[in-house]
Amino acid sequence: MRLLLATMSHETNTFSPVPTRLERFCRDGTTLLSSQTAIDFYRGTGTCMGGYLAVADEIGADVVVPVCASAPPSGPVDTDAYETFCRIITDAVAQGGFDALWLDLHGAMVAERFDDGEGELLRRIRAIDPRTPLCVAYDMHANVFDAMVSNAQIVTGYQTYPHVDQRQTAERAARALLRVMRHEVEPTLAWGSAPMLPHVMAQGTHQAPNKDLQAMCAAWEASGRALAASLFVGFPHADVEMAGLAAVVVTDNDPGDAQAMVDELISAAWQARRAFMFDIEPLEASVQRAKGLAAPGQLPVVLLDHYDNCASGGTMDTTDTLREIIRQDLDDVVFFGIYDPAAVQQAISAGIGATVTLAIGAKLPMPQLPVASSPLTVTGVVQTISSGRFKLKGGLTPGLQVYMGTTVVLDTGKMQIVLLSRHIEPTAQEMLQVLGIDPARKKFVAIKSRVHWRADLGKVAREIVECAGVGVCTSDYGQLTFRKVRRPVFPLDPDMQ
Ligand SMILES: [Zn+2]
Repeated sequence: MRLLLATMSHETNTFSPVPTRLERFCRDGTTLLSSQTAIDFYRGTGTCMGGYLAVADEIGADVVVPVCASAPPSGPVDTDAYETFCRIITDAVAQGGFDALWLDLHGAMVAERFDDGEGELLRRIRAIDPRTPLCVAYDMHANVFDAMVSNAQIVTGYQTYPHVDQRQTAERAARALLRVMRHEVEPTLAWGSAPMLPHVMAQGTHQAPNKDLQAMCAAWEASGRALAASLFVGFPHADVEMAGLAAVVVTDNDPGDAQAMVDELISAAWQARRAFMFDIEPLEASVQRAKGLAAPGQLPVVLLDHYDNCASGGTMDTTDTLREIIRQDLDDVVFFGIYDPAAVQQAISAGIGATVTLAIGAKLPMPQLPVASSPLTVTGVVQTISSGRFKLKGGLTPGLQVYMGTTVVLDTGKMQIVLLSRHIEPTAQEMLQVLGIDPARKKFVAIKSRVHWRADLGKVAREIVECAGVGVCTSDYGQLTFRKVRRPVFPLDPDMQ
């Protein structure tokens, strides 16, 4: 058996000023992963490609991997990058000779010229090859357009957030498609969506309502009623028509039942729409509350600077929460982190042990927001300089090589501030441990994350305080101007309340 496997993955925040050029998809900033290099990189990891490779190895299939292009979330994907991925994949498809196409796509990619990046790719593939069986594994944050699902036999989505089932999601897609290829089942797919934008901070599967919705999907798959059932919470920071919640169900030759399950998911999600909202606490009050929760010798209070989560397209360089933590004089804090490659280089020039004064952050203007951040001047000792490279043992994607970029820890006396040269969401204790910091022993751990930190850093959190800083992942939708999303939509329009 000969299989084509490919990754094209980007969660696009259309409000983000961070550019998304080809180099952002290149490991180490130079070359796109493909062929044996990609196979070696992903084999055995807790990723979608790791899952596809595991199934391919199990059945002794030959695999062709034309490209694995994956980048941290940011603004719309530029035309050169998007057309490059599409051309590499469609050229490979055009060569023919494949028994199946197994794709690892995000589902919320917006290209400069196409609001539905994945749907456009699938349309082009089907224009060349209308018949070869095709499956797609999507992220739970997919904003579903028709072309994303109608051009595939099998569609699966993550059933966990934090996304700790990436590998399993691809395995489910591959195994279901193998049954199709063996003519054991006849896939019939239905999908639907609801005009609602669930708040990301309320999407975690550690709690209702998403926990219950995902459990419905898993139960239908386990019982065999569905070949694949997926509830996509959607990505609200994308101003595209179909942003929001959707459901996709594939059954064995029973379109009516596929539609019935979709309808049940959509109805349950709509009923729970208010539970998908998030209450905002003013920054000053939240930092003050965190200070009061401190307990020396016990596990830390985790402060979430969640408006600026780079894994949702944040610049990771707004300083407002950090500034408030300093103003209220919290001590024994680690702050991960501020993206500021120039400051990293200044600290490296000074050297380990040197005392430096740096104006950090706020170097990426955010024209889509009515508020701005400003650089923060801090003085501290350069404590650590790290290559930022290591292999994750646990967390979201076990076994995956992580590249945080050259990283510096600046110790101000009361606080260790992590300065980064690449966008990376702090999710695992290992990310701090490689810098010589044990988060479990800090009084406060302040991180630019929303939900994924729960995958591993969550194990050390005694208390959690959400901080409304500044950033393009703002929880205050009033700061964002939506032009394209379908209207009316909950909760933007009062008549949908
Ligand atoms: Zn996601």
